[in-house]
Amino acid sequence: MGEKGQARIRAARVAIVGCGALGTVQAETMARAGVGRLRLIDRDFVEWSNLQRQFLYDEADASEGLPKAVAAGRRLARVNSEVAVEPMVADLTAASAADLFEDIDLILDGTDNFETRFLINDAAVEANIPWIYGAAVGSYGIKLAIVPGQTACLRCVYPEPPQGAQPTCETEGVLAPVTATIAALQAADALKILALGTEAIVARLTTIDVWSGAIRQLAPPPRDPACPCCVRREFAYLDGSRRAPISLCGRNAVQIHERSRPVDLPALAQRLSTIAAVRSNEFALRVDLDPYELTVFPDGRAIIKGTQDVGVARSLYARYIGA
Ligand SMILES: [Zn+2]
Repeated sequence: MGEKGQARIRAARVAIVGCGALGTVQAETMARAGVGRLRLIDRDFVEWSNLQRQFLYDEADASEGLPKAVAAGRRLARVNSEVAVEPMVADLTAASAADLFEDIDLILDGTDNFETRFLINDAAVEANIPWIYGAAVGSYGIKLAIVPGQTACLRCVYPEPPQGAQPTCETEGVLAPVTATIAALQAADALKILALGTEAIVARLTTIDVWSGAIRQLAPPPRDPACPCCVRREFAYLDGSRRAPISLCGRNAVQIHERSRPVDLPALAQRLSTIAAVRSNEFALRVDLDPYELTVFPDGRAIIKGTQDVGVARSLYARYIGA
């Protein structure tokens, strides 16, 4: 890529959506490559079960229950202090996408669900930002570079999110070697685009099974001449007519979005500590309400573990945090 390519990488601004198994490998690779500005977007916190595959985190992060974006940001600052890292403890939604992707040159997909990927696709096509789709479950993974106006977009390939029950990391598990491999391939596409431009990309669909060893390179998928997103420019996910789900990655948890309803965490911790075990820091508060666990963020958002029933989650939220 030469000095010119290196300089372009140093001037680039990259957003990583999701700092899990894919996102942490992407983020470390981008930081070590010297990407100028790295925006880390993640709504979740580090848990013990993440440590098997999420490379930037350690036991101390899980003990503290740090938000992933914050823990990743701290680690990356030690990896390469010249990179401007912007940790965003935030949920990518139709409402927040424009702000979170402002001034961004390229987006790396580190998410774990199709609804969020369709939202990324809408936002990326609308703003003409290349993005690299990647996904993994079990021992299998897939990768595709998407350059708006040049290659197929995600909706050219998948007109609708897959219907019915899908294998998830919860039901199938996921092997660290496959997430690391897919993330590394995504990072390679990203560096190529940043250093040489989008014309350098051949958008082949790559699939890998690290257990059987099967690796396939499919021809670049064709653009759909009737694609609602990249041809008709109808951004159903971005305009909010298609809402992102509030259930997380099949993990037996529900997220409640409250519209900018700031919560005083220390006051809430004091109130709840009389009835349950509470752990809190400046980023989040966690209360154990066996069989449920509530994690509340300062902006009023909450993740309720132990149920997939939206009604139960809303009721717990109303009961312990306020209607
Ligand atoms: Zn399309």
